[in-house]
Amino acid sequence: MDSEYQDFTDPISDSSFISSDIHLSNISSSLLNANNPGRLKNPLTLVLEQFIATSSLKKPKKEFLNAYIIRAIKRAFRSISNGKIPKKTCIAINVRDNIEMNIWEKLQRIFRLNVDSISKKMMPEVGPLTGGKSAREEKKEGPLSFNNAFCKEFFSDEPMRNAFQEIIQLFYCNFSPARCCERFRFYCCSEKADVIHTDECEDKWLRLKDYFSMSYFEDLDVETNQGLQTSSFEEFQSDLNLDTVSIDNLQL
Ligand SMILES: [Zn+2]
Ligand SMILES: [Zn+2]
Repeated sequence: MDSEYQDFTDPISDSSFISSDIHLSNISSSLLNANNPGRLKNPLTLVLEQFIATSSLKKPKKEFLNAYIIRAIKRAFRSISNGKIPKKTCIAINVRDNIEMNIWEKLQRIFRLNVDSISKKMMPEVGPLTGGKSAREEKKEGPLSFNNAFCKEFFSDEPMRNAFQEIIQLFYCNFSPARCCERFRFYCCSEKADVIHTDECEDKWLRLKDYFSMSYFEDLDVETNQGLQTSSFEEFQSDLNLDTVSIDNLQL
């Protein structure tokens, strides 16, 4: 079974996701954690609470999302270093889709210009911090090890942040809730393929996109060059095509 098909849910308590840094001001009413009065929930956890991970209606956890995206980035760079264009998984590229091919070319460029630093991050032993375990044991580390400290270290390199923006752009290009469900493997309203999504579904996905564009690295406490981040965000926005809404375009 492919690792991208990991269940997005986990049993551990929300209290371990609490962050003292809150950057989303528009959700302040729900910021107080009922289990832990006086402490604040992580903003990404709050955004993800709008979604469901499975038919059991569990919420997707941010560690799983972090793991999913970092694996998607590594998968993309692995494909590029093997000279392949992925046809399956969440990073599937439809070679007949100009927007997707354009994103893929940007990822190729990021790889070419940063082969050394990217190769270091791609090595199997550069996984989540595991405190003296063998490489074999580390391979078994699950998404729960993709905590903020690991993600902060992973995204401390600018090429990885740029790759992140391209992967998010790939997930959101030719935007539709159905396509986002397919790419992210969690759901706005239902996991049924034939569900009719609503405006509210669109809002949820666009809120998550805003989070990625504006708060993700800040909440990980990653030092970023704000100017660069802004320009890639503008590019990101202009490439969104909100009118092309068809799951048929996915070509998974
Ligand atoms: Zn997929
Ligand atoms: Zn929906």
